[in-house]
Amino acid sequence: MQSKSSPFRSIVIFTVIIIALIITLVVINNNKSESNGIEEIEEQPSIDGQPTLGDADAPVSVVEFGDFKCPACKAWGESIFPQLVSDYVDTGKVKFSYINVLFHGQESNLASLAAESVYKLNPDAYWEFHKALFKEQPSEDHDSSWITNEKLLEVAETIPNIDSEQLKSALNNQSELEEVNKDTTLVNAFNVKQTPTIMVNNIIIEKPFDYEAIKKAIDQALEGK
Ligand code: CA
Repeated sequence: MQSKSSPFRSIVIFTVIIIALIITLVVINNNKSESNGIEEIEEQPSIDGQPTLGDADAPVSVVEFGDFKCPACKAWGESIFPQLVSDYVDTGKVKFSYINVLFHGQESNLASLAAESVYKLNPDAYWEFHKALFKEQPSEDHDSSWITNEKLLEVAETIPNIDSEQLKSALNNQSELEEVNKDTTLVNAFNVKQTPTIMVNNIIIEKPFDYEAIKKAIDQALEGK
């Protein structure tokens, strides 16, 4: 058959490549080996451009997929996270990154836009804002609407070194939407189904509140280095 239509051929080749990529991703996701409360995947998502706490050269990378609207994420941040920081982040063994998940819709999206904007405007203020925002999550009725532009700016005003006028304009322009979308792409690619999802390098901790399991995965990763 004669090939007159090379643009058509390019489209076919491009489509085949895309399908191959999708299949590869599916295979990666299905290749998880499950045992002892952990799942092993091929590799952790890239933390490039993500807010990361601790020494950038720390040998082990812990990632949280979290949602500012999620009560378990608030609880995790207040109970497990401080232990993790004092045992491993402050000692230079672990760097910790946070990726946004939008399981609670528009409010999750708005909070993520604000957090990404704060990170863009002043990376040093990010973790304080992150903590302060979770603190505002109502402990009784977390499903009630509480994330609004006004609330986000009010939280920002309590933190030195965040220019709330700049944040206001970033929110109005949705200037960090691309970063939020990048996180959603990772959530989909890694088939994240619950928040918080905690990964220690390429190990998913099935019970994120099992600090011993997190410790074990980190210690094993450290030994393996
Ligand atoms: Ca992000």
